[in-house]
Amino acid sequence: QQATYAELRAVEPFTRDGTRITVMMNAGLRDDMSMLQLTGADGVGLFRTEFQFLVSATLPQRDRQLRLYRDVLDAAGDKPVIFRTVDIGGDKAVPYLNTQIGERDENPAMGWRALRLSLEREGLLKAQARALLEAAAGRQLSVMFPMVSEPWEFDAAKAVFENQLAFLRDRRHVVPETIEYGCMLEVPALAECLDALVPRLSFISVGTNDLTQFLFAADRANPKLAERYDWLSPAILRFLKRVSDTVVGQPVRIGVCGEMGGRRLEAIALLGIGYRRLSITPAAVGPIKELVRKIDLKEITEQMSQWLLSPPPDMRAALKAWAEK
Ligand code: PEP
Ligand code: MG
Repeated sequence: QQATYAELRAVEPFTRDGTRITVMMNAGLRDDMSMLQLTGADGVGLFRTEFQFLVSATLPQRDRQLRLYRDVLDAAGDKPVIFRTVDIGGDKAVPYLNTQIGERDENPAMGWRALRLSLEREGLLKAQARALLEAAAGRQLSVMFPMVSEPWEFDAAKAVFENQLAFLRDRRHVVPETIEYGCMLEVPALAECLDALVPRLSFISVGTNDLTQFLFAADRANPKLAERYDWLSPAILRFLKRVSDTVVGQPVRIGVCGEMGGRRLEAIALLGIGYRRLSITPAAVGPIKELVRKIDLKEITEQMSQWLLSPPPDMRAALKAWAEK
């Protein structure tokens, strides 16, 4: 395994027609950071800060969060890291936070989770903002918010960060050199308001894990449904293409950080509908970089446009045949 990583570490993911694709990795723990050098990923496109909360028996206080974020930035060196504020609540319940409504949530994935919870437990978001701002003192801070469903939620979350920033500046603390804000696109409703929000964003990260469960109304954790709907269905791909078409030509970076991007045929499809940035599980970084080198973007873009206009009976089979050829 180590040898495979070493072999693919230096592979530069240029397509055959010369476009550099950004291949980043997803992480959540201090220990994950060693994978950055091992895989040669372009950075961390999704750091799931809730992992620290999920593995802890008590609420991680601000100083513990600060230490983690600083270690992560130190380990990343000059590679970028995007920190996502906590996505807890719902099915990622933590006993010390009392996030349950009543005995149990009927629909935890659609419940009081992620930014919905952070905006109401303002102390939680404030502490996280302070920890991130202090950890990134003198360097770049990239932060994104999970489960944004309406543009005002992004504005409210950003305001919490900006207030903490003003507080630190008042006290002459060193603050980050630059701060950029982005949001996850994983609630379908946000896609319909994206035009309004885009001018305020530095980047968008499409979370296809949650997005597809909401589009198909199919619980991502239910084994009975795991094989039923396909990421390569016209419904998903048309939706994702519409999103990337909405932001094309605007000064906002867009990428995919769900598991979909780490699978071969899915990655090819994403390239073909306009995505140039993927953040994926570390084990997939090398194989996907290698795959990118075999792809002609122009060819797959034309092919995907045609298939999305009149979908073949089995998109997966069609893509597989295309890839084999
Ligand atoms: C997603 O929903 O696609 C995502 C990347 O976030 P998570 O898997 O942590 O919900
Ligand atoms: Mg998600």
